[in-house]
Amino acid sequence: MSADHIPADLHNFYTQVLRFSVQLYRRLELSNEWGELGENNIKSSFCRMLLQLPADQPITFENAEAFDNLVKSYVLQFELQNKTADELKVDIKAAEFTYESLTVPFEKLHEIQELFDKQCPGVVLQSGYYGEWPEVIFGKGPFSKRGTVTVYAIENEWMRSPTVLMSMAAAMTQKAVFIRKEALKNLFYQKWVPFFEETEGEASLSAEYQLSHAIKQKALASFGAFQLDRFFEKQNEWLELLQAPILYHELGHVIIQSKTLPPEIATFGEASKLFKNTFVTDLLEILADIASPKEGLKGTFSFIHEADIQTAHTYMWMYLSDAWFYDTHDEYMLGYADLACSFVLSWLKQPKKTFENRAALESLALQFVNSSYEQFCLQFKPHLDKLGGVILNCSDDQADLVLFWANLFESLQNDADFLQYNQWLSTQRTLFEAKWLSILGSSQTSIRNLVFEVAENLTKD
Ligand SMILES: [Zn+2]
Repeated sequence: MSADHIPADLHNFYTQVLRFSVQLYRRLELSNEWGELGENNIKSSFCRMLLQLPADQPITFENAEAFDNLVKSYVLQFELQNKTADELKVDIKAAEFTYESLTVPFEKLHEIQELFDKQCPGVVLQSGYYGEWPEVIFGKGPFSKRGTVTVYAIENEWMRSPTVLMSMAAAMTQKAVFIRKEALKNLFYQKWVPFFEETEGEASLSAEYQLSHAIKQKALASFGAFQLDRFFEKQNEWLELLQAPILYHELGHVIIQSKTLPPEIATFGEASKLFKNTFVTDLLEILADIASPKEGLKGTFSFIHEADIQTAHTYMWMYLSDAWFYDTHDEYMLGYADLACSFVLSWLKQPKKTFENRAALESLALQFVNSSYEQFCLQFKPHLDKLGGVILNCSDDQADLVLFWANLFESLQNDADFLQYNQWLSTQRTLFEAKWLSILGSSQTSIRNLVFEVAENLTKD
């Protein structure tokens, strides 16, 4: 792919992002450790990127071949052919990026975004970690302000790392939210359009799948799209509807992680994601949805509840469908799925009453985040000597604190006390579940049971 469509003064930077992306891909390929993102997901996303394949076009055998050849030519161009996976790992960790006179490591790429904001507004650079994997998107699109947060809508992706999957619709930092139009279009073509060809709930299929199908049907019916041609006609309206709750989920993260929790606890939670989803990760995810409005920002459910009742129903069915991970292999999402689906289904059954319980659920989740942090500090006191210094040094940028926790978790990974702490977390989850159910007014014995009971009832007719 040529970089002709990118402004000339950004070509050099584009090449740096491309090089970094090829290094990452090469490392994944050589080590054959694709992790929980999955080989197919990574390959298809990077293939679409390098070949500039639009979301409505399937990847053909010829595409796959062209992709392989292109990767090989980049490997030669960047002289990576003799590097081992371990050498590449070191190179990726040490990678630096330069724009004009500013050179920064990967963790500080947001400083280059600040330069873009001043010098070439509309140019977007999103970077972060998904688990242990660095991810970066370089492109352009309009941006707007919500309170103190800048919302970037990425319309054109000039280059993205292979670790950015097609399904990743949004990302956030303390000061910015990124929405990917490419991912929304992908969702439209890979999830919602194929629905019209899906087999209806045959008895031989699992209950999880049948309900997943019925939920999509409810969402589309509520939107007034019963046939594919009608759905295509209303495509843009649907894309708008898809985008809004995703945006407010990210804004909810900002409310909780930069305006509610103290920085040491917010970053403790954020770093928990870097290794493996824990109970704390699930709590942060549901908190983004149920967050109370603050400083001009709103979380997902406050936003949805204020829409007119018909639109709110469409949003909720749509959101339920997105959080319905029960018929997928994404085991690590099930903890969050239980919490989100139980709230949405309770809302669909009794909107007013459920919404009134939102604040109590939020306090409950915050209380458990705090106690998880306190227990950790109690158990690992000797390891926390440096924390005070890091807090003093981190000013309003939490990146150093996240790094502090990530390094600490990594060093503790095989520690018997850490194992014990994680077991303690599981017992907390059980305790939390019981309280969550009682606030929702359910007599079910587990949240999962509540989800399936209500989902079956509401999709019956
Ligand atoms: Zn989230």
